[in-house]
Amino acid sequence: MYKCVKCKRIVTKIEGAVRCPYCGARVLLKLRPEVLKRVHAR
Ligand SMILES: [Zn+2]
Repeated sequence: MYKCVKCKRIVTKIEGAVRCPYCGARVLLKLRPEVLKRVHAR
């Protein structure tokens, strides 16, 4: 799952190269899946 930094849309489908299908920007933020994992620090 990625998020475009240009149009700020969530891109879930990426075919081949990482690219925003909406605006064509190559800069995408890689989002982690919705897993709430927190390490309990002391
Ligand atoms: Zn975009």
